Amino acid sequence: MKTGTGIIKKEEIRNYPDYDILICAPSAYDEIVNELYVLNDGNMDHVYEISEILKSPKPKTFVNVHDRLCGELLLEKYDYYKNRSNTVNDSESMVLPFLGISVTERCSLNCEKCIALMPYYQKPNNFCFMHNLPALERLVKSVDKILEVGFLGGEVFMHNGFAEFLEWAINQEKIKSITVLTNSTIIPNKKEIELLKNDKVIFGIDDYGNLSLKMEELIEIAKAEQIKYYVLSNEDWQDLGDTTRNNYSEEKRNKIFNNCSFKDCHLFLNGKLYRCQRQAHLTNLGFCESIQDDYVDYTIEKGADEFREDLKKLLQERKYALAACDFCKDITMHINRIPAAEQRIPFVEKGED
Ligand code: SF4
Ligand code: SF4
Repeated sequence: MKTGTGIIKKEEIRNYPDYDILICAPSAYDEIVNELYVLNDGNMDHVYEISEILKSPKPKTFVNVHDRLCGELLLEKYDYYKNRSNTVNDSESMVLPFLGISVTERCSLNCEKCIALMPYYQKPNNFCFMHNLPALERLVKSVDKILEVGFLGGEVFMHNGFAEFLEWAINQEKIKSITVLTNSTIIPNKKEIELLKNDKVIFGIDDYGNLSLKMEELIEIAKAEQIKYYVLSNEDWQDLGDTTRNNYSEEKRNKIFNNCSFKDCHLFLNGKLYRCQRQAHLTNLGFCESIQDDYVDYTIEKGADEFREDLKKLLQERKYALAACDFCKDITMHINRIPAAEQRIPFVEKGED
């Protein structure tokens, strides 16, 4: 590691507490995270993924645990966030750095602090591909490029028709890479495995310990089928709150929004593009009424240029909070850390003894 004074051993990182440390490596992500975990005495509060470097001007210690994009796409992501912070952003092109697409409200786990609020869905549905296709087509038509599509649920493999969504995304020239994330409880079917082998696709295998019962099997399949994959382990989450409205002042809500590290996890859900995943599910579940400016509605017919303008306002220029931010804790970056995937224990009415 070079610090300006020469090469140091990894243990000596501790001697430079005031330095911002940037770790770049073409592989061995998990090993690096493990080493940092030990070096930091189990404290990962200041270890951020590379996406955060791109968005935040004040990094402390970084490691790339998520982005598996090729260097070229990562640089394009960087350009996007850099241009967005310019006061005058006169870029003509419309690039989406990340677009989540939700394919189902169903999940095989029941995580208490799920950002997609899965435990709150009483009668969860799968989304119909044919029903969503016109809106997805309008969305793609209204942008120049999508650097990364991430398929999300719930759990994508709970949806028997997931392959239709994946195949469609693979065939879109404007979509440059695709991440399929699983909680490692379900083995994909033959068709899904064939599609996961596509060059554009990266398979993210979550390691939630004992909950991820099929993890080893999924890794074996990925190796045998030459699917590009990564295992996401040792991750802690942030507690964003529940479904209670906080009635914050406007000033506080704006501060929460502007500091929020989830505000760029854009999500397409049932025909609408939301600024963030939590907002989408709070709205879909009916806890929050997102006002018209808070999403782009692709269920309606409009010219591509009009959609572009809406996207620019919502994703690039927006500096004030969403209605949904009133439901979130102040998650100024990297506070409220909680263990990943803690399960909600179903409420059982106690009878008389
Ligand atoms: S695995 Fe947990 S966090 Fe992921 S979608 Fe399901 S309930 Fe939510
Ligand atoms: S609703 Fe607002 S505060 Fe909550 S996660 Fe989304 S952007 Fe962040």
